[in-house]
Amino acid sequence: MHSPQPDFETVHVTRLDVVCDGGQGALGHPRVYLHIDAAEGSIVCPYCSRTFVYEGGAHGHTHAA
Ligand SMILES: [Zn+2]
Repeated sequence: MHSPQPDFETVHVTRLDVVCDGGQGALGHPRVYLHIDAAEGSIVCPYCSRTFVYEGGAHGHTHAA
């Protein structure tokens, strides 16, 4: 028995490059690579609408390319 999840999950990550496959269940989708814009700090997976929030921890260390 698994607990119900909210429709749009928020995933906290520590890297700007993330891989999403939608997780388990109905939201699953082919694996896609997403790149978080450091200025944005988050990205929404176009497939499953999960929000990936960057938590690099290096706040104040913005490294503008
Ligand atoms: Zn996804």
